[in-house]
Order: sequence, then C-alpha cells, then structure tokens
Amino acid sequence: MLRNYFLLAALLTSLSIQVKAQKVDYVLVVHGGAGNMKDLEKDSIHAAAYYAALDSALEIGNEILAKGGDGELAVLSVVSYFEQNPLFNAGIGATCTADGQFELDASIMRGKDLMAGAVAGVKLTKHPIKAAHAVMTQTQHVMLSGAGADRFALEHGLEMVDDNMYFATPKTMEWIDKLKQESKKNGTVGCVVLDSKGNLTAGTSTGGMFKKQWGRIGDSPLIGAGTYADNASSAVSCTGHGEYFIRHIVAYNLCSRVKLLKESIQEAADHIIFEELNEKEGNGGLIAVDRNGNIAMSFNSNGMFRGFIKKETGNSNIIKKIGIGKVLK
Ligand code: ASP
Repeated sequence: MLRNYFLLAALLTSLSIQVKAQKVDYVLVVHGGAGNMKDLEKDSIHAAAYYAALDSALEIGNEILAKGGDGELAVLSVVSYFEQNPLFNAGIGATCTADGQFELDASIMRGKDLMAGAVAGVKLTKHPIKAAHAVMTQTQHVMLSGAGADRFALEHGLEMVDDNMYFATPKTMEWIDKLKQESKKNGTVGCVVLDSKGNLTAGTSTGGMFKKQWGRIGDSPLIGAGTYADNASSAVSCTGHGEYFIRHIVAYNLCSRVKLLKESIQEAADHIIFEELNEKEGNGGLIAVDRNGNIAMSFNSNGMFRGFIKKETGNSNIIKKIGIGKVLK
C-alpha cells in the first residue's frame, strides 16, 4: 500500500515536471549592460533609442525561434546585432583601455553538451561573438586571446576590421582625448535562450570597463563568471564590475544554486546580486532563464538595459517586455 503511494507520488511529480516543461515554446532574454540610468531615463529621445535597439534585438531572436530555430543561432544573431550598434559597449561603440585602445571580449556556451567558446582582448575581429562561436565549434579549445585570437578569426573567414579605431565612435574619441577624466559607458551585451527543443544557450560580448588596464580580462569571456549554460539548470549572462563577478563565479554560481539547492532562478539571482555582490560593492546584474522558461533579470545598480520575449505553448501571442530603470514596459 505504502509502496503504491510512493509510486503514485513519483508519477505525479514527474508528470508535473513534464507539464511545467511544456508550458513555454521558447524564451529569449537580452541585456545591454547595467549601471546608473537615472539621467538617461529623463532624456526621452536618448532612452527611446535604447528601447528601439532592445526591441530590434528581441525581434531578431524571435524570428529565428518562431521557426523552430536553434537558441545557439538566436544568441549569435542577437549579440552580433548589438555588436554593430554603437549604443552598446560591445563591438563598435565599445569602451577603451587606459591607453585608448579597444580590446574586446566575448563568450558563448550551450547547455546541451556544455560546449563553450571565448575570445579575450581581440582588436581586429569585427564580431567577437562569432569568433567565440568558432572557437566552440571549430577547435578543441575553449578560449583564445589577443593577437592569436584575431589571427584565428581571420583564418576562419570571419569579418575583420583594418584598424582598431574602427570600434571608436565620436563619443569614445572624446573620452580618448580626455582619458584622465572620469567617464563610464554601460552596455555590455548578453542574450540567453531556451529554444523549442528545450536547449539552453548563453552569450556575452563587451569592450570591458572604461580605462581598464591594457591586457585586463573581465568576467564576460570567462565561462562560469560572465556566461554559463547547462540544460540541467539555466543559462546566464552577466554585466557589471567584472572583477567581482569573477570572484563570485556568478553565472556558474547561479546554475549550481538552481540545480543543487533547488532554489528558483529568481531566488538564486537575487541572492547572488543583492547579498553576495552588494556586500562587496560589486555593481551589476544578470539575465537568466531556466529549463522551464522561468526568467530572472536582477540588478543592484539603478538600471539595466534588458528585455525578454516568451512564447507560451498553445497561445499565439508573444509576451514582450523591455526596461531600462526599475520598471518593465
Ligand atoms: N562585466 C564587464 C567587464 O567587467 C563590464 C560590464 O559589464 O559593464 O568587463
């Protein structure tokens, strides 16, 4: 009798997991960096440009996922879009080092087989995320850096730029002229996806921190710190003061809390962002999606460019929300 009860309970639990897993067809979440957005929120024209860019990123991802496309392709396409948009700190528009150079970092990871690829400190690769993807799919390695990574990108037929100054915009040129002044650019970009096959993917791309020491590598290209995906848990992309995200292995930390402590993705994200990082004054945020399509977008700064789309099973409407400050629209 007791044995039957346990069998029934196990069956119901597995059924409820299956029902849960079937609730969404796909989910895509993006971020465009965390930081102080107070002034931007007051500047409606400038803010509208960010809303439009976030919306375009979501639409690019939606088009792929709605056709049953892979999350990997969606992440690659969305992050590449951000890299060619000068509003963000990735690709063109990236922030510069203390000697006025552009050293770009990116990484991608897929949750179905824990395959990952990353590049750090590339100076001539137009789309660092594509180089990271090529490292994942065309080498036995996980990470390449500096001139070797640029050479790898060139040899693998990726688009290159002639000069490192390609990544500069009028705004970054102003900073380069006044490198002594305090200035900041938020806008590291990231994308996490649960696709219709149930696979999780995460990707992140950045120019790093303004006035960083040349050669400095942040969390964004580090698998486990700035990016992580595991089909048994979640996909995560981070943004913020990279040194803290490295010390707290934030992306892997979140996946482990969900998998081992059975925390919800929101509980895990809030614990890391508001307790672990806040205590150490580690500024920033993250986006995450779990294997059931639950989303977290936590940040301890006063804003984070972010948005998501969600397609629920049996409902033809796509839920879409975008935010910069506390409120999602
Ligand atoms: N996390 C990035 C880095 O430390 C910067 C950012 O996200 O703003 O390189």
